[in-house]
Amino acid sequence: MDDIVQAHDLTFRKMITAEQIAERVQEMGTQLARDFAGQHPLFLVVLKGAYIFAADLLRACPIDQELAFVRLSSYQGTRSSGTVRMDLEMTATVTDRQVIIVEDIVDTGRTLEAFRQKLLADDPADLKIATLLHKPEAQAFDLIPDYVGFTIPNEFVIGYGLDYDEAGRHLPAIYQRTDT
Ligand code: 5GP
Repeated sequence: MDDIVQAHDLTFRKMITAEQIAERVQEMGTQLARDFAGQHPLFLVVLKGAYIFAADLLRACPIDQELAFVRLSSYQGTRSSGTVRMDLEMTATVTDRQVIIVEDIVDTGRTLEAFRQKLLADDPADLKIATLLHKPEAQAFDLIPDYVGFTIPNEFVIGYGLDYDEAGRHLPAIYQRTDT
């Protein structure tokens, strides 16, 4: 696969190879399996971007587990926390469960923090965050993901499920915007 790709009007350069992703996701799955063995955790996958990461992560985590999907829209109201709307309602209940949110990327953390607060109101036994990518430079909220694949600079990225206006999700590697 090329080191430079085009998506709509933008050009992107390879940042993390498919091999590096595969190796790291395997490590994350192994760690989650160790941490949640025998606890039947609920993996709550945030659509759309996390779908490829989740498919690989869950297969790398060979323990008894449950899967559910949510789709979130976030709105920053006048309150600093913003509000989050679930466009796809969860089919699972989180009360008294070990819950792991699976995200593609934590940028400002606004969406995730609002969602986390929403879930905490339903009293999960435990609530963790697993994200493939983390941009700490952009972090505006006090939200520390528990499992992080890669910490990346504050650049716009696509690939491995992440899109630019629906382009680039299929790319096996992670690409960063070149023309900033
Ligand atoms: P946050 O609320 O943490 O600022 O970001 C929420 C969402 O913005 C992420 O779940 C993701 O969908 C999107 N996002 C943030 N940074 C990037 C990026 O670099 N590339 C892409 N494709 N999406 C991003």
